[in-house]
Amino acid sequence: MPDVTGPDHSFQSALADKEFLLPKCDDCGLFHFFPRILCPHCHGTAISWKQASGRGRVYTTTVVRRKPERGGDYNVCMIDLDEGVRMMSRVEGIAPDDVAIDMAVIAFVGEAEGVPVVLFKPAEA
Ligand SMILES: [Zn+2]
Repeated sequence: MPDVTGPDHSFQSALADKEFLLPKCDDCGLFHFFPRILCPHCHGTAISWKQASGRGRVYTTTVVRRKPERGGDYNVCMIDLDEGVRMMSRVEGIAPDDVAIDMAVIAFVGEAEGVPVVLFKPAEA
C-alpha cells in the first residue's frame, strides 16, 4: 500500500488543485524540498506548507534526445527557487537547447504522464 498521508501526498494533492506549495520549517524558518517529515536543516517536525513564489533560476540544464515520433527532445534541469530550495523539473515554452544556466524562470502546474507536476517557463516570455 502506498503511503497516502505523508508529505509527498500533501504536495501532490495541492498540485492537483493547481497549487504549488513548499514545506517550510516553523522551527528554523527554512524551506526544503522534496517534502519530508523531518526538517533536513534542524530535524524539527513543525513543518507547514507555504505558497511558493514560483520564481527561480536555472541552476543546470541538459537536453534529453528523443526521436520526433516519441515526442522529440526535451529539457531536464535543476531550478533554484527564490525560497532557497532546488528542484528537478523542465522548462517549457522554448526549444530545449535554448534553456540557459541562470535563466530566470517562473513555475506553473502542468502535467506529465497524467500526473500534475511543477514545470517552468522563461520569466521574460
Ligand atoms: Zn528546521
